[in-house]
Amino acid sequence: MSFRKQKILLKSPDQVDKMEASAEVLASVFLQIRKLVCPGVTTGTIDEAIETLIRDAGCIPSFKGYHGFPGSACISVNEEVVHGIPGNRVLLEGDIVGIDAGVIKDGWHSDSAETLPVGSIDPETAKLLKTTEESLNLAIAAIEPGKRLSVIGAAVEDHAHANGYSVVETLVGHGIGRNLHEDPQVPNFRCYTMPDPVLEAGMVLAIEPMINSGTKRVITAKDEWTILTQDNRLSAHFEHTVAIMEDGVRVLTRRPSCIAGL
Ligand code: MG
Ligand code: MG
Repeated sequence: MSFRKQKILLKSPDQVDKMEASAEVLASVFLQIRKLVCPGVTTGTIDEAIETLIRDAGCIPSFKGYHGFPGSACISVNEEVVHGIPGNRVLLEGDIVGIDAGVIKDGWHSDSAETLPVGSIDPETAKLLKTTEESLNLAIAAIEPGKRLSVIGAAVEDHAHANGYSVVETLVGHGIGRNLHEDPQVPNFRCYTMPDPVLEAGMVLAIEPMINSGTKRVITAKDEWTILTQDNRLSAHFEHTVAIMEDGVRVLTRRPSCIAGL
C-alpha cells in the first residue's frame, strides 16, 4: 500500500526545551482553570479565563481563529467528543467537560486536553474518565525509539476495549512543533490506512485518545465544528504533548491528574 509522503520535522533538544516552555504555560493554565469548573458556570466563561491566562503569560492561544475557530479552547460537554464551541451553555452537576487548549510561545506550539467532572458524577461516568486517562498513559508508556508509531494506537485500543468502550477513529493525534498540526498522524487504534513510521528521538507528538461509552461513530453538529457521538452517549478526551528523547520520553504538558480523587 502506498501513502501520501510524510514529512516529519524532528526537533533538536534545544527546540524541545522551547516547546517545553510553551507546554509549561499550558499546564499551568489547566491547573488554574480546574477551580472554575463547577455547576452554574458557562463554557464561555471558562474560555475567556483560558484566553486571559494565556495572554497574561505573554503567549498566544493556538486555537483562536484556527480555520476560523471562534474560541481559545475547545470545550465539549457530555456527548460532545471534541471541537465544542464555548458559549452560553451552563455546566450542570453530573456533567463531564472536555477542555482542549493550545499555546504558542516564541513560535512553538503545545497542545493538551483533559476531561473534568462537574460536581459529583456517577461511578459509570468516572470509569470512562479514568479509562481514557489511563489509555493515554499506557500509550505514552509504550513509546520507545525503534518501535513503530502503531504501539500508541494498540495501547489505547486494547485498554478501551478491555473496559467495554470504543475508540473514535475519524479524529487522530498529530505531530506538533512550529505548527499546531504536523506529520505524523497518530491514530488511537490499529490503523492500516495511515503510515506507521518508526519512532525516533526528536519526534514531538500530541497524543489524544477520544473514548466513547457506546458506538465509535461520530457526527458533526449544525455549527460545523462540534463532533458528537452518534448515539448521544458520553465521550472523554485526554491529550499530552510528548517528546521522544535519546534517553526516554518527556511529557511536556505533564501535571497532576485532574481526576486523581475519583
Ligand atoms: Mg488538543
Ligand atoms: Mg491535538
